[in-house]
Amino acid sequence: MAEEAAKKGVDLVATGDCTHPEWLKNIKKAAADDETVTIGKTNFIITTEIEDSSRVHHLLLLPSISKAEELAERLSNFCDLKIDGRPTVRLNGCEIAEVAKDIEALIGPCHAFTPWTALYAYHDSLKSCYGDMTDYISFLELGLSADSNYADRIKELHRLTFLSNSDAHSPWSNKLAREFNQISVPEVTFEGLKKAILRKDGYRVTYNAGFYPQEGKYNESACIKCYTHYTLEQCLSSNWKCINCGGLIKKGVKDRVNELADFAEAKHPEHRPPYVHLMPLSEIIMTALGHASINTKGVHTAWNDLISRYGNELNVLQKADISDMNKLDRRVVNAILAFREKKLIIHPGGGGQYGSIEIPPETQNIEYEHQKKQSSLFDF
Ligand SMILES: [Zn+2]
Ligand SMILES: [Zn+2]
Repeated sequence: MAEEAAKKGVDLVATGDCTHPEWLKNIKKAAADDETVTIGKTNFIITTEIEDSSRVHHLLLLPSISKAEELAERLSNFCDLKIDGRPTVRLNGCEIAEVAKDIEALIGPCHAFTPWTALYAYHDSLKSCYGDMTDYISFLELGLSADSNYADRIKELHRLTFLSNSDAHSPWSNKLAREFNQISVPEVTFEGLKKAILRKDGYRVTYNAGFYPQEGKYNESACIKCYTHYTLEQCLSSNWKCINCGGLIKKGVKDRVNELADFAEAKHPEHRPPYVHLMPLSEIIMTALGHASINTKGVHTAWNDLISRYGNELNVLQKADISDMNKLDRRVVNAILAFREKKLIIHPGGGGQYGSIEIPPETQNIEYEHQKKQSSLFDF
């Protein structure tokens, strides 16, 4: 994770799973002191997800290893911490937020709009989940199927800082940092991050970056077995049963946000940073080459060439002058240029299947000159 993060241009990664006894041992091995965990150039912040008694996932950011131990101690009365990296505890959202406050951790809902195991899957408001502790919630994790445009249609979220975390469970190039946050901090420590999330002393998240919501697995309502997509009207008339295979239709994030929305269009509060939409470079290359997987030799070679020449993925996607890349397949160069010009087509995901990218034929001969045009990356 540390090595691959550096290739992506990422300075700070979350450990995850900090209450799992074996994983905590590993965290301790990499720790310089109680608060500093660093491997190579990559810094780690101590975190865990916790599943509450109604299956909602909460993200906790912790100040130190000793606080992780304290958290483990507190939670061990309500679950078996050895079973899972993300413990399922017999506490509700409000009680978990109380524990978080006691150990001086920051807390917010994970992948908040996902139709399973998330805040808005089971609740219609923050208050319904967190009760008297609602004011202590300082951030919301958007998840892959939502962005600031979705979330800022809901008034109660305006005061929260949005985090666009990758939720990566592996270091592979299309997972790690598929979403990320650019954060202005006084120092890369918990205290620095805390100031930025609470927007204290001028520190803040300066932009969120991540998928177009259509790329996510649960963007549109769709069958979880055969992935047929449905409009909300069709879902209601078929009672959430797929007319093709009889499988369950899962409500998509797009439809769920429409239900919850206070505004027809997003109203961004003044503090909200821009949202930069990205696609994983390896998937752009895969599509350009017509390969079926990102794990082919051709995709690896092109990806490694680009990264070794231009430093990191973000640089390749956003601004590197790739016209001098003679050895690189012309189809790959064109696809990257088409991405920059927002000309790639996304077929929305749903029912647990990611969205897919299509390269329209008319973009396959984009002139190299085009890349010199400065396209606006910050399209909120
Ligand atoms: Zn989760
Ligand atoms: Zn079906």
